[in-house]
Amino acid sequence: SAKNAGRNQYQFYKEEMTSEIFEKIIMKQELTEALKNNEFEIYYQPQIDLKTNTILGAEALIRWNHKTLGVISPENFIPYAEESKLIIPIGEFVLKKACEFIKKLNDLKLLENGLIAVNISNIQIKYSQVLKTIVKELEHSKLNPQNLEIELTESYIMEDVEDSLLILENLKNLGIKLAVDDFGTGYSSLNYLKQFPIDKLKIDKSFIDGLPSNKKDVAIARTIIALGNGLGMKTIAEGVETEEQKEFLRKEGCDEIQGWFYSKALKEDDFINFVKNFK
Ligand code: C2E
Ligand code: MG
Ligand code: MG
Ligand code: MG
Repeated sequence: SAKNAGRNQYQFYKEEMTSEIFEKIIMKQELTEALKNNEFEIYYQPQIDLKTNTILGAEALIRWNHKTLGVISPENFIPYAEESKLIIPIGEFVLKKACEFIKKLNDLKLLENGLIAVNISNIQIKYSQVLKTIVKELEHSKLNPQNLEIELTESYIMEDVEDSLLILENLKNLGIKLAVDDFGTGYSSLNYLKQFPIDKLKIDKSFIDGLPSNKKDVAIARTIIALGNGLGMKTIAEGVETEEQKEFLRKEGCDEIQGWFYSKALKEDDFINFVKNFK
């Protein structure tokens, strides 16, 4: 009957909610343990300058070496880290490791002036003093601010335009670079691009996948590159997997690329070898 169906549905929701809450509690405990036990590791994915065919630097990408489950991808734990706000100490760890590593490579002349790009979650900016943290890590690592790039999302910028403009201007004043990640997938407004001190647009992988045969992807990629050029911003394509994609982007005037065509994200030692062997 309808009554029974209603009751079943209610019970179903109740169970769903309970397991969701359990999941959050367990993940919060697991992530806290992981931080304490040093289970997070930063991998580095090379970014290549298409004009000079040199390594520009790397994006820092976090991995979780779980004691029983093995390597866990950020897509599977970042949402929980954000929900519990543990992304704040985790993000600080990423920033510290990444700045130290790129500074080491700068000093070794393996990657002079090499740039490190670090993802910053909206939660970090909204609920922690991210500016202070960045200043602290720059001082600690003695990295030149020009060699640090912060990757933000459109959703952060659009959520509270006044607040984010102020914060981004403060970040910019430190001398670091600002990139918009996954560009084109969020709630974009061309108006913010005009006002905000943004250095780089990262063209989302979803627009790169269909290049060069998909006409719509071609139109979108072209438009973002032209937009970046027109506004004096660099453009980088993410998720470049093939020679054809790379060549298309080069011809269209895209500045930089990142993707499996060159390399997946690498552990520190493998990244150093990649730099040494790059031609
Ligand atoms: P993202 O910042 O857009 O990073 C790009 C993702 O695309 C990375 O996935 C990278 O490994 C993957 N990728 C790069 N090139 C290719 C390619 O050619 N083909 C394919 N199929 N994939 C490619 P990953 O490392 O799993 O990271 C996923 C997302 O997790 C990141 O997306 C970012 O939003 C988030 N994330 C990663 N590390 C951090 C971090 O330290 N802090 C925060 N807040 N978020 C992070
Ligand atoms: Mg990113
Ligand atoms: Mg991205
Ligand atoms: Mg992406």
